[in-house]
Amino acid sequence: MTPKVTIVNVGYRSTNYWVVSAGSSRLLIDLGWPGTMGILRANLARMDVPINELRFGVATHYHIDHAGLAQELKSLGMPLLVLESQVTAIPLMKASTKPADHCVEISLQGNRTISFAESRGVLAEAGISGLVVPTPGHSDDSVSVVLDDGSAFTGDLTPLALADESSAVVLSESWRRLKEHGAAMLYPGHGPARAFPY
Ligand SMILES: [Zn+2]
Repeated sequence: MTPKVTIVNVGYRSTNYWVVSAGSSRLLIDLGWPGTMGILRANLARMDVPINELRFGVATHYHIDHAGLAQELKSLGMPLLVLESQVTAIPLMKASTKPADHCVEISLQGNRTISFAESRGVLAEAGISGLVVPTPGHSDDSVSVVLDDGSAFTGDLTPLALADESSAVVLSESWRRLKEHGAAMLYPGHGPARAFPY
């Protein structure tokens, strides 16, 4: 039987960074603002999450408030999971930063690039029952982590009420996919966790 996972938030500056733990095997979902490793380290320490227990890190999408510390975390030994739909978004993130952001460019080397179909097996390596699904809409590279207990980590997935004409079809498909995979509790990139709204 899989042990129950715990979920804590190590976020700051109005962005959530979620740590899913199966005992001392942990997954970090979303990866900090650029230039703020000290803050993330302090928050991880306060929540009793040793960096060397981060079995994997994954960004819900490659915007700077969600993936800003990816390369520094890799340098500290955290394997970065990159979903197949995210590969081309990684080089684009740097272009949207200013020198003052101190954003360390994410190397395409040393990442663990996987397909969505492989994600369940990879999370299982960390003792976590769930998978990663594509949930484009806010951005083409947006993904969500959905655990078998119904917890869904959705990043910046736009609520349907805020969808514009150009994104409505893609967004409703993303929300439908989450529901299909049993999403019951939403852990977004900003704002509090809440019940699945649809
Ligand atoms: Zn975003």
